[in-house]
Amino acid sequence: MREWIDTNIVPKIAQWESLGTVPDEVYKACATAGLLMPMAAGSKIPKWWAEKYPVIGGIDFEGWNGFHDFIVHDEMTRVGSIGIPNGLIGGVTLCIPAIRKHGRGKALYGVIDEVLSGDKRISLAVTEPEAGSDVRGILTEAVLSEDKCHYIVNGQKKWITAGMYANYFLTLTRTSGDGFTLLVIPKADNVTVRPMEMCGSSCAGTAFVEFDDAQVPVNYRVGEEGKGLSYIMSNFNHERLFISFQSLRLARVCLEDSIGHAITREAFGKRLVDQAVVRFKLANMARETEALQAWIESLVYQLDALSEEKAVQLLAGQTAQLKAHSGIVLEKVVSQAIQIMGDLGLTKGGRGERLERIWRDVKAITIPGGSEDILLDLSVRRALAVFETENNAGHLSSKI
Ligand SMILES: Cc1cc2nc3c(=O)[nH]c(=O)nc-3n(C[C@H](O)[C@H](O)[C@H](O)COP(=O)(O)OP(=O)(O)OC[C@H]3O[C@@H](n4cnc5c(N)ncnc54)[C@H](O)[C@@H]3O)c2cc1C
Repeated sequence: MREWIDTNIVPKIAQWESLGTVPDEVYKACATAGLLMPMAAGSKIPKWWAEKYPVIGGIDFEGWNGFHDFIVHDEMTRVGSIGIPNGLIGGVTLCIPAIRKHGRGKALYGVIDEVLSGDKRISLAVTEPEAGSDVRGILTEAVLSEDKCHYIVNGQKKWITAGMYANYFLTLTRTSGDGFTLLVIPKADNVTVRPMEMCGSSCAGTAFVEFDDAQVPVNYRVGEEGKGLSYIMSNFNHERLFISFQSLRLARVCLEDSIGHAITREAFGKRLVDQAVVRFKLANMARETEALQAWIESLVYQLDALSEEKAVQLLAGQTAQLKAHSGIVLEKVVSQAIQIMGDLGLTKGGRGERLERIWRDVKAITIPGGSEDILLDLSVRRALAVFETENNAGHLSSKI
């Protein structure tokens, strides 16, 4: 994975960042090299996928686990930005698991095949101008046609990662009454996509998407009508884990670049690293980063060891807390790294360029996938729910 990223991505980063886009052929190359399918699979690769699509490093599907999933995202984030990884594989990682789990029928299997083969791209479209954290507030409406052959969709989606590259949008819509339904919407005439200029992540292809009487065949519905919200919510757990993997690697990049600078840059007759204050900063950055790594590894191990149902019940709260924590760590670490790097850390290009990019990207870690405040709150609510269930079942040593 490292070799592939170093050869195929790293030499082009500066060029793509200044163009604000990654050429389409790189996505196809990710599929051919065996990155896409594993990133869609997460911690377990199904046999029939392994027979059809390559796996990076030729790893046997039976030996694949959550640590491999961790490694592929970790290595990809070595580029020192989340724009390029998210633009390339964000859609695969965020959308395909939900379609695979809940979608049925030839049309949806066809979408999965096109995406995993690198021929088509997909984006997750949930957030709207008026509804972000509060997903229930979405207004995009899908109405079933009289002949029940297709849905007519109207609405707007905002901040859609990789939307500029997408051929399909996995879209949360409002159907009759209070129901929410998940649809794969092909990019067609009545779907307008325009770029959004963000603070960082220039290669992420972030888009504003509008559906204006878009016709969606009924066989592009994922799962049952009315259950879309629960599908999306359960999908968030892996998204949060994946964002934590990214935060960790970005924190390591900050350490790598600032240590490199501190041992070579001289000021006041000695190297920066010979100043106790600089060593103190580095120690705190490393302390936070190593602790984050240990927590991630512990959680990945537990997720692998439990059944899917038990993992969601017991660990969704901890996963939310880990994602929030990873952003908090990265915010501190990048700030300290730039302090050590000085002006270089604020300059595009040159030795501090990765830090400058991470500085612009860091809030795109702490807000999407569940904002920090909401996830910390959720983690406690989930812990209380687990406590209640276990207590009622008599699994705790002392009843409260
Ligand atoms: C770079 C980027 C990429 C994104 N990619 C996608 C994508 O691919 N697909 C997609 O659908 N969406 C995407 N989003 C949208 C993202 O999921 C939302 O931005 C996020 O859910 C927050 O929504 P909001 O900005 O509307 O914030 P709001 O919901 O308006 O909240 C604003 C802030 O208020 C605080 N807050 C809100 N409610 C509470 C509460 N109950 N308790 C405590 N504090 C609260 C939080 O701090 C929050 O950050 C992306 C966003 C960004 C920035």
